[in-house]
Amino acid sequence: MHPDLRRLALCLMAILPATAAAAWQLISAEPGRRVEIDKASIRKVDRGKTEAHGRIVLDKPIVDPRTSSSYRIVEAVNHYDCASRNYSTLKRSYFKDEGELLREEEVKVPIEMPVRSGMLDDKLLREACRPKAGNDAALAARQTAEKVSEAAGELRKANEALVRKDVKRANLRTLAAEKSAAEATPASVNEPLANAHAASPPTLLAARTRRAAARSSAPSSEPDELAAAYAHANIHWSYEGEGRPENWGRLRAEFATCASGERQSPIDIRDGFGVDLEAIQFTYRRSEFRVIDNGHTVQVEVGGSNLSLLGKTYDLIQFHFHRPSEERINGQSFDMVIHLVHKAEDGQLAVVAVLLEQGAENPIIQAVWNNLPLEKNDYVAPPGQAIDLAQLLPEERSYYTYMGSLTTPPCTEDVLWLVLKKPQQISLEQLKIFARLYPHNARPVQPRFSRMIKESR
Ligand SMILES: [Zn+2]
Repeated sequence: MHPDLRRLALCLMAILPATAAAAWQLISAEPGRRVEIDKASIRKVDRGKTEAHGRIVLDKPIVDPRTSSSYRIVEAVNHYDCASRNYSTLKRSYFKDEGELLREEEVKVPIEMPVRSGMLDDKLLREACRPKAGNDAALAARQTAEKVSEAAGELRKANEALVRKDVKRANLRTLAAEKSAAEATPASVNEPLANAHAASPPTLLAARTRRAAARSSAPSSEPDELAAAYAHANIHWSYEGEGRPENWGRLRAEFATCASGERQSPIDIRDGFGVDLEAIQFTYRRSEFRVIDNGHTVQVEVGGSNLSLLGKTYDLIQFHFHRPSEERINGQSFDMVIHLVHKAEDGQLAVVAVLLEQGAENPIIQAVWNNLPLEKNDYVAPPGQAIDLAQLLPEERSYYTYMGSLTTPPCTEDVLWLVLKKPQQISLEQLKIFARLYPHNARPVQPRFSRMIKESR
C-alpha cells in the first residue's frame, strides 16, 4: 500500500468510532435468505436523501462469477429519497461469511429505482425513512413521506383531490418547465431506468419533436389537473397499478407520445400485403454477454452482430423478453417473445421479434437464465462464456414488417419492426422461471390507424 493511502486509512479508522458497530435488524425472512437493515447506518445525507446499509444473508453460499470464490452475504449502501420513494445503490460488498470480505464494488453510475409498494424495497425504505423518536421535524417529514407514498401506491380518490388542491399550480409550472427543458435538451428526456429500448437517437428525436410540434395546436383531452397529480405522485411506469400502460402518456411530459402517437407498437398483425419481401441478412455471431434485470424485463447486452436490409446495416445492441408476446398475429398471442433491438449508424432502430411457444428447451435462453442477476438493476457478465446468437433465429425467416414504436416509455416512434413468422421454442420450465420474475410485462396492442403491414408471401 502506498504510504499516503495507509495514512488515509489510519485517518479514516480514527474518524469512524468503534461504537459505529452495525446494528442489524431483520426486515424479512424467507426460505433460504433473510434481509436486514443496519439501524446504526441510517443517516441523512445531501439533497434530502437518507443513507442506509442493507444486506441479504443467504443460508447457502453461492459462487461469485467474478472471483470464482463463494459468498453468503451481500451488503449494499443505499440512498433513499423518502419523499419521492426512490432509491439508488452506491456500493455493494460481498462477504464469504460474517466479517470475511470477498470483494467490494462501487456503482459507477447509481441509477434511481422506484420503490414498489409491498415489495422488499418498500420495507427497507420504511425502515430507513422512519424518524428517530421525539424528533418533530423528522416526524413531520415521515408524515409527508407517508402521504406521498399513499398517493403513489393507490392514488385513492381522497388523495387525488388533496394532491390536486395542494399542488395544482406548482406542478403545472413544473410540467411546463419540464416540457420546455425536454424540448431544449432532448437527450435528457430518457427514463433513467435505461431499458436500452429507450435509446433516443437524434433522428428519432427530430422526428418526434416535429410531430409533437404538429400536435401541439390540437386541444389536449387530458385534464391538466390530473396530469399534475400523476406527476406529483412521481409514479414510475409499469404494467399494473397506477403506472400501467393506459396511464404512461401522462406519467411524465416526455411520455406523451405513448398516448398521442399514431404509430405505436405493439399491434395485432393481420391483413398484411403478401409480397416478395427482401430476405433479412442476419450476420449473427457468437458473443460474450451481460444479463441485466432492469425492473421491467430481463435484458441481454451483446456485441458484434448485425442485420442488413435494403442496403442499411443495423447493429444488434440487446435483446429482452416479454410475457406473453406483445404482438398478436390475427388476434393470437404467443407464450413469450424475444425483442432483438438493432440500431443503424443514423440512429434508426429496427426491432426483430422472435415469438416463443412452449416446446423444447432453448439453449440460449438457458444460458441467460443461468446468469440471472440476484438483484434488480444488477448485472451478471459471465467471464469466458459466449452465446451463439444465430441460434435465437428460426431456420425459416419469412416476416411481417410495419413502422411502429418502442413498446416501453417514452414510446418513441419511427422504429422498423420485423416480426418473424415462425416461432421458436422454449420449455415449460424455462417459461416458469421468467413468469416468476415477470408474470406479465406486455403492453396491450395499440390502434393500427392507416399503417401498412407487409408480409413475406
Ligand atoms: Zn420489447
